Amino acid sequence: MINDATLAESIRRLRLGERATLAQAMTLIESRHPGHQALSTTLLDAIMPFTGHALRLGITGTPGAGKSTFLEAFGMLLIRHGLRVAVIAVDPSSPVSGGSILGDKTRMTELARSDAAFIRPVPSSGHLGGTSQRAHELMLLCEAAGFDVVIVETVGVGQSEIEVARMVDCFVSLQIAGGGDELQGIKKGIMEMADLIVINKDDGDNRPNVAIARHMYESALHILRRKYEEWQPQVLACSALEKRGIEEIWQTIADFRSALTASGRLAQVRQQQSVEWLQKQTEESVLRLLFTRTEFDRYFHQMLQAVKNNDLSPRTGLRHINEFLQHQYFE
Ligand code: GDP
Repeated sequence: MINDATLAESIRRLRLGERATLAQAMTLIESRHPGHQALSTTLLDAIMPFTGHALRLGITGTPGAGKSTFLEAFGMLLIRHGLRVAVIAVDPSSPVSGGSILGDKTRMTELARSDAAFIRPVPSSGHLGGTSQRAHELMLLCEAAGFDVVIVETVGVGQSEIEVARMVDCFVSLQIAGGGDELQGIKKGIMEMADLIVINKDDGDNRPNVAIARHMYESALHILRRKYEEWQPQVLACSALEKRGIEEIWQTIADFRSALTASGRLAQVRQQQSVEWLQKQTEESVLRLLFTRTEFDRYFHQMLQAVKNNDLSPRTGLRHINEFLQHQYFE
């Protein structure tokens, strides 16, 4: 475990890309022990100047879409290109456990064995905000350790993918075709967030389904407003199992990065993400602080009850709460 005495040496080793030190640094960041908070803040502040160089990639897909099979093939391809790859597997449904869970060794065996790769699961913290904040910090650690591509993987359920989309440069949605699955993807609003849609399992008898789904997604994308002026989201197909179509996906992601870097958009997006992060965290901490004041907490619950009993309209309840705040804290 990293402590005050070993911090400087640990940062040095981290920057050399030592995976054991990276794992220790992650354990420190994830620790809920109150005694570790100051040290993890110092660590994060110290590594900030060495972050930002990696390509940040988000990958989402429903369970069974083939995320780990895809990441195994994709990660190994990047390594053959001479790149170092980190995978942070966010699983909002898995409970906190001391040891490793599914993201670790069993799912991406070849990648997990490679010296140029690092895989880390992020178990749920109970509430999503906490999980994604930690995922973001783990991503920064991977960057400081010199990884070229940092992939944040998440299961495609609601809020978790939105949060992941907000912390990456390029957001890839992994889909499957057949049995109405493509409608799921279109309905859930992932289309607006995705920079690239990949339809997996383009093999065997499933290939005609994939071709149909591909057209559906392409048509749907054409009627949506573009997320970026300089990028029309693409729809690609692959077979993670047969390792086909993976190189084209990497090329497309590289094109995306070039297009957004050339226009200066990527820097702008990252700036915006940092600003939004701070705004959101500030709002949350102000609210937490407010509710530690018993007089406010009591008044707020009185208003809730009054609205529930139909004694007040919600609008009047809000006006009273505002007046209370004004009177108590701002006069
Ligand atoms: P995850 O839950 O999204 O991580 O999905 P997995 O990678 O664990 O894959 C779920 C199942 O789909 C496994 O049985 C895989 O072997 C299978 N699978 C993954 N990719 C492909 C593919 O490209 N083609 C076919 N036919 N099966 C695949």
